[in-house]
Amino acid sequence: MLFIKTMNKNFYITTTLPYVNAAPHIGFASEIIYADVRARYERSLGKNVVFNTGTDEHGVKIYQVAQEQNMDPQKYVDAYAVKFDELKKLLNLSYTHFIRTTDTHHKQASQEMWRRVDRNGFIYKKKYSVKYCVGCELEKTDSELEDGFCPLHPNKDLEHIDEENYFFKFSAFGDNLLDLYKNNPEFVVPAKRLNEIRAFVENGLQDFSISRLKEKMPWGVPVPDDEDHVMYVWFDALTNYVSTIGWPEDTESFAQFWGTTDAPNAIQIAGKDNLRQQSAMWQAMLLAADLPPSKQVFINGFISVDGQKMSKSIGNVISPSEMVERYGVDGTRYLLLTKGNFGEDNDISWEKLDAKYNADLANGLGNLTARIVKLSENIDFNISSLEMGKIDNNHRMEMMKLNVELEMIMEKVRKANKKIEDTKPWELSKTDNEIFEKVMKELMVDIFSIAHQLKPFLPETTEKILTALETRERVILFGRI
Ligand SMILES: [Zn+2]
Repeated sequence: MLFIKTMNKNFYITTTLPYVNAAPHIGFASEIIYADVRARYERSLGKNVVFNTGTDEHGVKIYQVAQEQNMDPQKYVDAYAVKFDELKKLLNLSYTHFIRTTDTHHKQASQEMWRRVDRNGFIYKKKYSVKYCVGCELEKTDSELEDGFCPLHPNKDLEHIDEENYFFKFSAFGDNLLDLYKNNPEFVVPAKRLNEIRAFVENGLQDFSISRLKEKMPWGVPVPDDEDHVMYVWFDALTNYVSTIGWPEDTESFAQFWGTTDAPNAIQIAGKDNLRQQSAMWQAMLLAADLPPSKQVFINGFISVDGQKMSKSIGNVISPSEMVERYGVDGTRYLLLTKGNFGEDNDISWEKLDAKYNADLANGLGNLTARIVKLSENIDFNISSLEMGKIDNNHRMEMMKLNVELEMIMEKVRKANKKIEDTKPWELSKTDNEIFEKVMKELMVDIFSIAHQLKPFLPETTEKILTALETRERVILFGRI
């Protein structure tokens, strides 16, 4: 299947849905900020945007925690869903859809997805006896374990499952998936992740379990026509990407935003621990239900602090709300977007963040804006006469090279600051008013275009700069730390 390039005026992007068993962490904050910038950028091109996020609320992890806290699972997930939705304000996110997998419509959609795949012959029942990591939501063979524990979740005991389960015939989709990757070399970005998933599929796919006995794990969506089983993770969790736009009833919205088999339209973003789930398992499920695949899956890396994995026991956790407290909303957005290349593991520390914040934002953009506004106080120049140029279709934006784009904007900031050093407008104003005004108008156009380019990245800052240029009132964008 080769995707046809079309000029679709509808744009769709989704994050993964985090489990609601812990407060939102910085890795997810980073993922959703990337998605937000892309969504704002596509809106600036005049597209109708669906930007989906939400919370994954079923499963044994949540059931266990709710039981430990002596809470009804629904009340427990209600409280967490609010915490995740608060990210919208905290990080100034522009998502349009917030789906909860406990929504009634979503549950019905998951059941319909199951029915269609079942009807096509890709669901069967068999005896299941396995070690299972609830942290990963994956089976573990002994060779994958370290001292009997999952290397990613050394504090979690493995579940020993021994029961009859429903299975999805993943193994039937190897060739289709390889075909999908081969014909669409940018299906997974970055390329090294495409190579990784291709190697995984080439190795041969194992069918995976998609249900649990209800008596052991009651917190889930009932399997259609079988009272003894509930869905386990996949049909429930992954179907949100289509149920959020009204699938299966709203076929028009589905075709517009999710796309068609010839011209898929859905962009997904996920962390590297979700590579297999998003770029292979979910794609196979779509194929099994005769639905179009995603258009593209962006796989982000992990964030470490001072070279170490973030963990409560080390005490090096940096949370999104702590960052916002220290750097403001746009400061946090900027720092999470510039911490390194998309798709690679990025290392941060308070020290590095402070330095970058001071250099680029306080001394760079903030200082430039303050100087221009102050020096142009008495200049007769109407900034609203300038036209907001259209941001061009930009391959860097489309490939999530947002740090590269921001670095190019920062280069303009440095050049404009240097222009001020070199021309010394405060002296010109006393010696040659004509040249002074000419230089200042150039600088105002510079900062105007910088503000415009920054809009998808730092929306509030853009507004503040434009207002300051119009009113010539002093403004402190980013206080020094
Ligand atoms: Zn694990």
